[in-house]
Amino acid sequence: MALQNGHSKKQLDVVVVGGGLVGSLEALYLAKRGHRIRLYEFREDIRYTPQARGRSINLALSVRGRRALKDVGVETHMIEEHGIPMKARRIHRMDGSTYAIPYDARTKQCIYSVGRNYLNARLLQGNLTFT
Ligand SMILES: Cc1cc2nc3c(=O)[nH]c(=O)nc-3n(C[C@H](O)[C@H](O)[C@H](O)COP(=O)(O)OP(=O)(O)OC[C@H]3O[C@@H](n4cnc5c(N)ncnc54)[C@H](O)[C@@H]3O)c2cc1C
Repeated sequence: MALQNGHSKKQLDVVVVGGGLVGSLEALYLAKRGHRIRLYEFREDIRYTPQARGRSINLALSVRGRRALKDVGVETHMIEEHGIPMKARRIHRMDGSTYAIPYDARTKQCIYSVGRNYLNARLLQGNLTFT
C-alpha cells in the first residue's frame, strides 16, 4: 500500500464494526478519503426504529466534537435545529444557594446538548455533503 503523508492513496475495502457515534463518524471520514466502507451494526437500524435500544441520554458536544462533525458535513444543520446551548454549569451549595461557572468565559464558547440517537442517525445517513 503506497503511503503519502500518512494517508493511503489506494482505494481500500474497509469494514467498520459498530455503527455508534465513533464507528459512523469513522466510516464517513474513510469514505471521504475515497475508500469503500461496509458498516456492521448489531442493533436494529436506529434511523427507522423510534425506540432504539442502547444509550439514550443527550450528548454534550464540545467545540472539538463539532469540528469533527463539520469535517463530514453535519455540524451546522444539526446544531441549529437540535442543539441546546449550555453556557455554564450550575453548582448547588450545601446551603441550597447556587452559582454558575461558565464553560469558557474568555471566548464565550459553550457546549451543546444534542439528542444522541438523532446525531447517530444523521451520521448513519451517509448522503452528507462533504466540505
Ligand atoms: C450516560 C453517558 C453519558 C455520556 N455523555 C457524553 C457526553 O455528554 N459527551 C460525550 O462526548 N460523551 C459522552 N459519553 C460517552 C459517549 O457516549 C461515548 O464516548 C460514545 O458513545 C462512544 O461511541 P462508540 O461508537 O465507541 O460506542 P457506542 O455509542 O456504544 O456504539 C457502539 C456500537 O457498536 C455496536 N456493536 C457492539 N458490538 C458489536 C458487534 N459485535 N457487531 C456489530 N455491532 C456491534 C453497538 O450496538 C453500538 O451501536 C457518555 C456516555 C454515557 C454512558
